[in-house]
Amino acid sequence: MKEVLELLIALQEIDSTIVSRKLQIDDIPKEINKHTAPLQKAEKDFRKQQEKLNEMEKKKRQKELEVKEIEDRIEKLKERTKDIKTNKEYHAHLKEIEKTEKEKYLLEDDVLYLMEEIEEAKKTLKEAEKKIEDEKKRLEEIKKELDKKKQQAEEELQELKKKRLVLVEKIPPDIYDSYMETLEKTNGLAVVEAKDEVCLGCYMSIPPQLYVEIKTEDRLHQCPQCGRYLYRK
Ligand SMILES: [Zn+2]
Repeated sequence: MKEVLELLIALQEIDSTIVSRKLQIDDIPKEINKHTAPLQKAEKDFRKQQEKLNEMEKKKRQKELEVKEIEDRIEKLKERTKDIKTNKEYHAHLKEIEKTEKEKYLLEDDVLYLMEEIEEAKKTLKEAEKKIEDEKKRLEEIKKELDKKKQQAEEELQELKKKRLVLVEKIPPDIYDSYMETLEKTNGLAVVEAKDEVCLGCYMSIPPQLYVEIKTEDRLHQCPQCGRYLYRK
């Protein structure tokens, strides 16, 4: 029986490791998700910057159109000059041209200012684009690393399952069935140490006599509270 208990202890260790590897594998998508936030932010910043630039370019086109209109107006005003008969009218007309030209200069200034702004915005947009590339690269690295981990865990899992099969062959079927039943009932922990008269599965006290018998009797013992198989080191 001591031998069977040794096998159960080994089986429990394998089963616990299998559960932990499976959890590791299941956690990988969550792990990847955690690392995508900076990329999402970079993409959002890029879109915002792109919108800003589009807005500025639209404004610039409008201003350029206004410049064009005002140039036409000036052109027409100048053409009309030759039709003017009186001196007074002539001076008023010149003033009108002058005023319109001033308006045009102001508009041209606006266009120049916008052009500078657009240059700056383009630079910022390029930086935002680079940031996206950097974040993508970083995320790829992380994914590669995690994929490697996943593959390792899967390989380990295959090995553990093989080892498990070998072990199970050596355990009497009725004891194996009971172990599996206990494993299910106890959330994956069917074999535990008894220490200082306490079951390390449910942390309840073990009757002193049973505690002694675990050590002295050559048979399997189960915790009276939780049903787990007990062993003493
Ligand atoms: Zn117990």
